[in-house]
Amino acid sequence: KVRTLTGITTSGTPHLGNYVGAIRPAIQASKDDNVRSYYFLADYHALIKCWDPERVHQSTREIAATWLAFGLDTDKTIFYRQSDIPEIPELTWILNCVCAKGLMNRSHAYKASVDANVANEADPDFEVTMGLFSYPILMAADILMFNANKVPVGRDQIQHIEMARDIAGRFNHIFKKKLFDMPEAVVADASDSSAILQGLDGRKMSKSYNNTIPLFSTEKQLKKSINKIKTNLLEPGEPKDPDTSAVFQIWQAFATPAQVAEMRTEFENGIAWGEAKKRLFELVNAEIAPARERYNEIMDDPEFLEAELQKGAEKARAQAAPFMEKVRKATGIKRFK
Ligand code: ATP
Repeated sequence: KVRTLTGITTSGTPHLGNYVGAIRPAIQASKDDNVRSYYFLADYHALIKCWDPERVHQSTREIAATWLAFGLDTDKTIFYRQSDIPEIPELTWILNCVCAKGLMNRSHAYKASVDANVANEADPDFEVTMGLFSYPILMAADILMFNANKVPVGRDQIQHIEMARDIAGRFNHIFKKKLFDMPEAVVADASDSSAILQGLDGRKMSKSYNNTIPLFSTEKQLKKSINKIKTNLLEPGEPKDPDTSAVFQIWQAFATPAQVAEMRTEFENGIAWGEAKKRLFELVNAEIAPARERYNEIMDDPEFLEAELQKGAEKARAQAAPFMEKVRKATGIKRFK
C-alpha cells in the first residue's frame, strides 16, 4: 500500500504556495482508498528558522485550521502535530548515531541557507545551528517512523529523501534488521500547476521570506496582496511574456486549461497589469472563499482544533510507539524481561 506523508513548517501564515504545492494535492490524494496519508504540522522544524514563540504557536493554529477548512478527512487520514509524537525526536537521535557527518555536509539546503545569508549580508548574528545542519535527520525520522514510501517534495528536497534512504539503509545494515522501507521522492512535473509559485518579489513564495500571498486574509487583503506582485513596467497594450510572470504563473495554478490559453492570448495582446491582477484575484478568491468561512469558524474554536489534533496524535502514536519499541530493541536498548 502507498503511504504518503506531507508536513508544513509552522513558521508563519500559510500561503498560496503551500496550498497549491502541498495542501490541495494532498487532500486530493487522500481520497484514494489505496493511499494511506499522514499530514503533520512540523513544529520542531519551525524552531530551525523561527525563534518567535508567538509566531510558531499562531502558525500551528493557522496551518491546522487551513487543512481542516479545506475538508481534510481526519477519520481516513492521520493528521497530527509533530511535537505530540515524542517517538519522533527519539528516533531522530538514534538516526543521528548512524548518520555520517559527511552526508550532512553535502546538504544543499543548509549550504543554500549559508550562501543566502552571505549574499544578503543579512543577519550579523546568523550562525549555522546544529538544527539547521542536521535537519535532514529529523526529516528522515518523520518519514521512516511511518515507513512512508512515497513522499511528495519540491525539487530542492529530493536530496533529503536520498539522505533518508541512505540513513535507513545504514541502520538496516548495522543492526541487521530490515526495519525501514526505502522512501521514494515524488516530484511534481515543472509544467504541472503545482510547480513552485513565485512570491511577491519574484523569489520562491516562502513563509521565511515574507513575500507571500496569505491564503486566508480578508477579500480586501487578498486583493491588496495580489496587487503587490512585482511586475515590469510594460504599459497596457504592450505584449507581456506570460512565462516569466508571477501573475500568469499563479493564474495557471488556479485556472482550467481553457482559461490558461485565454490568459496567454491576453498577455500577448498586452493586457494591463491592473486588469490581469483583478482577474487573478477573482479566480483565486472563487476557489478559496468557501473554505475561508470555515477557516474563520475553526480559528474561533480552539477546543475543536485541539480535539482533532489529539485524535490524530493518538492514531499516530498507536503506530509510532510499537515501532519505536522494535527500533530500540534492535539497538540493544530494551528491558531485561
Ligand atoms: P519555510 O519558509 O518555513 O520553509 P515554506 O512556506 O517555504 O516555509 P514549507 O512549510 O517548508 O514552506 O513547505 C510546506 C509545503 O509547501 C511543501 O510541500 C512545499 O513543497 C510546499 N511549498 C512551499 N512553498 C511553495 C511554493 N512557493 N510553491 C509551491 N509549493 C510550495
